[in-house]
Amino acid sequence: MEKILNYINGEWQAAQSAETYPVHNPATAELLAETPLCGPMEVDAAACAAEAAFPAWRRTPVAERVQYLFKLKHLVEENFEDLSRTITIENGKTLEEARGEMRRVVENIEVAAGMPILMQGYNSEDIAAGIDETMIRQPLGVCVTIAPFNFPAMIPFWFMPYAIAAGNTYVIKPSERVPLTMQKIFRLLEQTGLPRGVVNLVNGSKQAVDALLDHPLVKGVTFVGSTPTARHIYARAAQNGKRVQAQGGAKNPIVIMPDADAEMCTQIVADSAFGSAGQRCLAASVAITVAEARGWFTESICEAAASRVVGYGLEPGVQMGPVISPQSRQRIEGLIGKGASEGGSVLVDGRGAVIPRYEQGNFVRPTVITEVPPASELARTEVFGPVLGLMHVASLDEAIALVNQRAYGNMACIFTRDGGAARKFRYEVEAGNVGINIGVAAPMAFFPFSGWKESFFGDMHGQGWDAVEFFTQKKVVIERWPKEWTRKF
Ligand code: NAD
Repeated sequence: MEKILNYINGEWQAAQSAETYPVHNPATAELLAETPLCGPMEVDAAACAAEAAFPAWRRTPVAERVQYLFKLKHLVEENFEDLSRTITIENGKTLEEARGEMRRVVENIEVAAGMPILMQGYNSEDIAAGIDETMIRQPLGVCVTIAPFNFPAMIPFWFMPYAIAAGNTYVIKPSERVPLTMQKIFRLLEQTGLPRGVVNLVNGSKQAVDALLDHPLVKGVTFVGSTPTARHIYARAAQNGKRVQAQGGAKNPIVIMPDADAEMCTQIVADSAFGSAGQRCLAASVAITVAEARGWFTESICEAAASRVVGYGLEPGVQMGPVISPQSRQRIEGLIGKGASEGGSVLVDGRGAVIPRYEQGNFVRPTVITEVPPASELARTEVFGPVLGLMHVASLDEAIALVNQRAYGNMACIFTRDGGAARKFRYEVEAGNVGINIGVAAPMAFFPFSGWKESFFGDMHGQGWDAVEFFTQKKVVIERWPKEWTRKF
C-alpha cells in the first residue's frame, strides 16, 4: 500500500494528522492507500513555503519560468502510460479514457508555455500631451487548486501551469478519493528542478480546504467539484477577500432533432452519457427528442446502452468502468428507483450489476429511463452515473425552453443537419459549453472551460486567456517625463 505524502517546500513530508480516508480501487475494491486528512498546520506550512518562494520566482524571467513547463511536458509524455494506468486504478475510468485525460494535461502545459506572449500588457503613448499609459500584468502570489475525484490529473492542469508560468506560486489539494496520480505528478514536478516552494501538495478534505480558504497568504482560489461545495468555496474565499472561481456540477441536456444522423448521434450520445461511467461534468444526462426522433432514438440508445461492455478499465475491450464508491453506486441506484416512482419508465436497468471476477466492484450498468417528468428529482438532480433520462417534445422551441428551465448551465448539445436549427440553439441556449453534433463539448486548452448558472461561480474560467486573466493582476502606469528634465549629453 502506497504511503501518501505531502510535498511542501521541495520536500516529501508525512502528514501531522492521524486521520485518514481509505482509497479503494473502485473495480476490485483493493485498498490502495490511506489519504491523510491534513489540517491547518500542513496548510500553513505549504502556504508559507509558497509565499517564501514567490519573490524570487516572480523575478525569474518568464522565458526562464516556462522552461520548467517544457521539461514537465517531456516528463509527462515519458510517463504517460504509467500515469494513465494510475488514473484507471484509482478512479475506475477505462485506460483509453485515462489516456484522453492525460492528453489534456499535456495540451494545457503546451498552451501555458506561451506565457511570454500571453501575459504581455499594452500601452498608449500621448494619452495626453507628453503622457504615456501602460498596462502590465503581475502575478497574484500564492494560488490554490481544490480538485474533484473525476479527473485526478487534468483538472489541476486547467490552472497550475498558467499560474506558475505567470509567476505565482502554488498549492494543490487533490480529492482525498484519488490521491495517487498527484503523488506521481509531483515526483515529475520535482524532477524539473523547480525552485523549492513554487509548487506544493497538501492532501486532505474539508478541513484542509477551509484552512486554505481562510489562510491570509492565499490570494487566488480555483475550485472544481459539486455545486454545494462550489457555493461554499466561492462565498468563503470571497468573504476573505480572495480572487476565486468555482466550477460546479451539471445536468447536461442533448437535443435530438428528427433530421439528426441516427447512427452518429446514437454513438456519440451513448459515449457522452456512459463514458467514464457518467462521472463527467460534461456527461449527457438528459436526451430531449424532438417529434419523430423519439422513435428511432429511443430504440437505438437502448441498444447502445444494453450492449456496452462494462468491466475493469485496465482490461482490453472494456468500454465502461465502475463508479467511484459503494456509496455512489447506492445513490445512483436510489435515483433510478426514484425516477421510476416519479413516473419514469426504466427501459434499460443498470441496477444490481455483477461483473464476473469483480463482484466487489462499484458497477452500475448503463441505464435508460423514458418519460422522466421535468419536475421530478431525477430530472433535476445531477446523477453522476451512467444514467440517461429521455424526454420528448414536439418542437425545437419546446426543447430550448426545457433546456433553459434547468438550474445548471454547464453544457447543452444539439444533433441536427439543419444549420438554422443549430444557429438558433447556439444563440438561445443558456449554457457555457455548447455542442453541435458533438456530445462532450470540452473546450481545448486554448479556450475557456465555460459553464453558466449553477455550474459556475465567478467571472474568469480555467484554461486559455481566462487563466491568464485570473492569475495576473493588472497594473496601469501613467507617466510624464517633461522635456526640460532631459539632460543633454
Ligand atoms: P466534491 O464537491 O465532493 O469535492 C471536490 C473537492 O472539494 C474535493 O477536493 C473535496 O475534498 C472538497 N470538498 C468536498 N466537500 C467539501 C466541503 N464541504 N467543504 C470544503 N471542501 C470540500 O466533488 P467530487 O464528488 O469530488 O466531484 C464531482 C463533482 O465535480 C460533480 O458535481 C461534477 O459535476 C463536478 N465537476 C465539475 C466540473 C466543471 O468543470 N464544472 C468538472 C469536473 C467535475
